[in-house]
Amino acid sequence: MNVRYARCQGAELITEDGRRILDFLSGYCVHNAGHNHPDIVAAVKSELDRNGPGMLQSHVPEMAGTLAQELCRRAGGRLAKALFCSSGSEGVEAAIKFARAHTRRNALLSADGAFHGLTCGALSLMSDPFWSEGFGPMLADVEHVPFGDLEGLAAQLSSRRFAALVLEPIQGEGGIRIPEPSYLKSAQELCRRYGTLLVLDEVQTGLHRTGPFLASHHYAVDPDMVVLAKALSGGLVPTGALLMTDDIYGSVFNSLKRSIVHTSTFGENGLSMRAALATLGVLDREHLGEQSASLGAVLRDRLRARLSGYEMVKEVRGMGLMNGIEFAPPRRMALRLGFESFKAIHAGMFGQIVVMRLFRDHGVLTQMCGNNFMVLKAAPPLVVDEAQIDTFVEAMGAVVELMHT
Ligand code: PMP
Repeated sequence: MNVRYARCQGAELITEDGRRILDFLSGYCVHNAGHNHPDIVAAVKSELDRNGPGMLQSHVPEMAGTLAQELCRRAGGRLAKALFCSSGSEGVEAAIKFARAHTRRNALLSADGAFHGLTCGALSLMSDPFWSEGFGPMLADVEHVPFGDLEGLAAQLSSRRFAALVLEPIQGEGGIRIPEPSYLKSAQELCRRYGTLLVLDEVQTGLHRTGPFLASHHYAVDPDMVVLAKALSGGLVPTGALLMTDDIYGSVFNSLKRSIVHTSTFGENGLSMRAALATLGVLDREHLGEQSASLGAVLRDRLRARLSGYEMVKEVRGMGLMNGIEFAPPRRMALRLGFESFKAIHAGMFGQIVVMRLFRDHGVLTQMCGNNFMVLKAAPPLVVDEAQIDTFVEAMGAVVELMHT
């Protein structure tokens, strides 16, 4: 969409011609603290004004140590060390390297429908050829299991020695897929039994998107590594992080017997560190985790009430403010267009019509999930208010009604 924005604040985007757009996408879960939060903007500006060492690769800035401690304290469990990078994909790449070096195994396991990023290692973890086709061979030794299937996972883990199982606690691009509550904990127990590390990709689900700091906190799971990015630095500068246990960090550095194991030029730059610390402050002070949990429940209740009874709405689901509306395009509409069922038409087309209608007719910005074109995202900045939730619900109701008739 070729729209030019003049100003973005909170959950609202103002176009150059003065139109107010309600953001229910959050840059794919980047703007948890809202657009241009004044405290984060001020922190970034003051870091620039300080004229301090912005990118000085020869030393680790103190702020990186503070941020590592703050992240590990919030993540909890055995997570005690952090490596910084500039994106989610880079964090996943680092996790693959550390898992292989620590376990001295090569094979990797991930879930069908997952999205882990578009660099070659991360892409190898994704079962859908849509993203990798045309880009040559991906990593060897990668297998995929159906997401949520414990029996399949047990069989697979016992079949060969995997370095790591990489999972999203809730699949974002896969269609806001939420596994059974016991899934992650049981997956962790299976991993321990077979000496496989559990890596959780919380790039979308982290930073209070689903309520608690990490989505895995819903499930009392204790992962070996966690990847964070997106919302980590308030949507102003790019930052990613790989959190891991002391054991993994120590063993990889010791076994490789060299001081530089994995670095990234911009990994610990002052602006990113400062923005991330400011973001954590905002998330805490404004209780955005609690807000995400409570307003998420309000959003789902109101959506379900408004959209019930329409054939094209299969399910409304989510956790906190990470929500999806799954469509089942009405057969009647397909017949009218001369198709036996909607399967005959590119599924993405249906979703894109909803997306365009929401934007054009109602000033609501969102998107379909990247690996599941039948699920629409409802993931506003966590600073959204109830009136804005009502605006979204009404817009959805109007679009569904229009497409139904
Ligand atoms: N993991 C998950 C779960 C993601 O959703 C994404 C991006 N959509 C990534 C990793 C990759 O992050 P980035 O685009 O910052 O490389």
